[in-house]
Amino acid sequence: MMYADQTIQHYSSVLLRTFDKISDFVFFMEVDGSTYRYIFVNEPGKQAIGWTDADIGKRVEDMVPPETAALVTRHYEEAVRERKSIVFEDYRLAEPSYSVQPVSHEIQLPVHYYESEVTPVFDESGVCTHVISVVREVTDRKRRELELSILKDQHESLRRYSPHGIFVLDDVFRVQSINPAVTQITGYGENELLGEPFLAWLPESERILVEEGLHFALSGTPHKYGITAVQKTGGLLDLAILNIPIEVGGRITGLFAIIIDHTPEKNAERATQESERRYRQLIETIPEGIIVHKDGVILYANALALETIGETYIESESIFKFIASEFHETTKERLHALRQGGPVQDTEIVLLTPAGRRLHMDIGSLLIDYEGTTAVMTLLRDVTEKLEMERALHQSETQYRLITENMSDLVCILERDGQVRYASPSHKTVLGYAPELYEGKNTLDFIHPNDVESARRQLDTMTASSEPLTLEFRHLHQDGRWIWLETKIQAIYDDAGQLLHYLTVTREIMKRKVLEKQLKHLAYHDTLTDLPNRRYFLAYLEETLVRLDEEDESLAVLSLDIDCFKQINDTLGHDIGDELLRQFSARLTDVLRNQDVIARFGGDEFSVLIRYTESDAPRRVAEKLVTSLQLPWQIEGHSFITTSSAGVAPYRPGMPTKQLLKHADLALYEAKARGRNQYVVFEDR
Ligand code: GH3
Ligand code: MG
Repeated sequence: MMYADQTIQHYSSVLLRTFDKISDFVFFMEVDGSTYRYIFVNEPGKQAIGWTDADIGKRVEDMVPPETAALVTRHYEEAVRERKSIVFEDYRLAEPSYSVQPVSHEIQLPVHYYESEVTPVFDESGVCTHVISVVREVTDRKRRELELSILKDQHESLRRYSPHGIFVLDDVFRVQSINPAVTQITGYGENELLGEPFLAWLPESERILVEEGLHFALSGTPHKYGITAVQKTGGLLDLAILNIPIEVGGRITGLFAIIIDHTPEKNAERATQESERRYRQLIETIPEGIIVHKDGVILYANALALETIGETYIESESIFKFIASEFHETTKERLHALRQGGPVQDTEIVLLTPAGRRLHMDIGSLLIDYEGTTAVMTLLRDVTEKLEMERALHQSETQYRLITENMSDLVCILERDGQVRYASPSHKTVLGYAPELYEGKNTLDFIHPNDVESARRQLDTMTASSEPLTLEFRHLHQDGRWIWLETKIQAIYDDAGQLLHYLTVTREIMKRKVLEKQLKHLAYHDTLTDLPNRRYFLAYLEETLVRLDEEDESLAVLSLDIDCFKQINDTLGHDIGDELLRQFSARLTDVLRNQDVIARFGGDEFSVLIRYTESDAPRRVAEKLVTSLQLPWQIEGHSFITTSSAGVAPYRPGMPTKQLLKHADLALYEAKARGRNQYVVFEDR
């Protein structure tokens, strides 16, 4: 028994010592509830956590930092609970203090990674007595994994954000993947390209070249060339194609085909070439005189310039000889400005020919390189003709205007009963009716009911000898509006004095009518408040009295006046006074009924005309007004109150309007005298 024990002990110590020979850290822990105590640690493990034999029986948390202890214990518990070995990785497993080391500017990686395999050991009754933890450093593997994922991310970024299209092709040039730029450049999406031959989307004419390039790259040499392709939408593409072999494990498995879009640059280049070509053409065919000069001395003049001036040879002459003297100063200034590098505006000058003619010229000058020196090129354009053309154009414009203005007159030939025999085209623009639709109708049917009778009456008065008649009336527009027209009617008679037809020339007078209406409004309204004025009020009052049915209805006039309005003007200013008058009007309009008539008589004096049936109505209205006019005003940041006084004058049958108004004034006067902010009803005495 003893012997056997010793043998076991011997073997186990041999066994344990063999653990010292392996490089993994071996921790043999005793399980005591939720506490784990070290009972054996192999040599590498001892170094890793700074364990000595004196630490036997110490708890995990006594030997390693708290964070590590918590981590380890959690996994030990898991292994015990699951009753099987578990493996986990963490960089904090073995070092007393772990450090991190940057792998690039941005990414920090821990220096060491560890993998731990935890195995629970159970006794016969199934209770876990021990835990064996074998910890292995896996730094290299881990770092490779991490670096690979970074590389992958970098590759993905390149793929995703590259402005160039990237195709990945397999070894028979079928498209394996594309990046977003491919779609941006070509217009083709993944669904159209993936799995298809790369050549498929390229034009027939370029395929041989591209295929050669692909084969070349497949043999291991990157290859670059330019082609013209076509976008899905039909646009032309100038592309550079870059073929790069993809080498995996020393074997070329496919290619990158990178497309670089040079279309914008090529377009710009083409545009420049085109504009240069045009420019040359222009110079060659330019129908203008050209003179090249330096320091005021002529170096060259083209045939047209010579022809214009009327000389055969003017080289080495001074330009000023051919410029009218009043333009010498400005010419010198222009040349100076040119020498300073500034562009100069085209201008008009007068040339003087040796024959004594004065020619109006538009000139433009610019600096050019001329036979190795900097000179000024001046283009001459004879504008004598242009001026004439302008004049002619102006004239024809005037004529055109005359015609169109006349065109807007409506010309009609009417039968005697008003039926339209002919209508001019302008009917369409002025009245909205196509002439052929208007013809055959009776023109009187289109006239406003209120105007038609007088039109008919006046027509009937026409005789063979009468002057043309002028009528004003409203005519129905095709869109339903009424258009004011003024018509001149001429009756046409035959030799026997028989009325043949009428000729009418009609003009729209809507604008004049509107103006008349505005004038009328102005005459009857107060411009400050836009309320009716005294004149209107009186006219209205007269009209009302004529029509008043005295059995059913009564009428009263109220005179209103703001109390101490002068003070508002004096303290807050005239503008605020004006605004108060406007708001006062608005409030009156608000408080009163629609059928009541409100007028401003001038200053701060207002009058109201009410019609009523119940005898206490005038008092009620006056009461309501005086009360509502005490509410505060808000004007330009000022808040204040005013009061007002009112005089009420009920109408008595037969009373002249002037007297009615007088009564209202007297009552108002009385209200002021009694201390303001009240109303007084005029009592007959
Ligand atoms: P009372 O209580 O007696 O009515 O005193 P009041 O200060 O209101 O005096 P009154 O009605 O006699 O004078 C009205 C003043 O209104 C006189 C004039 O300076 C002023 N006024 C008249 N027309 C206008 C106007 O169009 N705008 C402004 N801001 N003030 C006006
Ligand atoms: Mg007043």
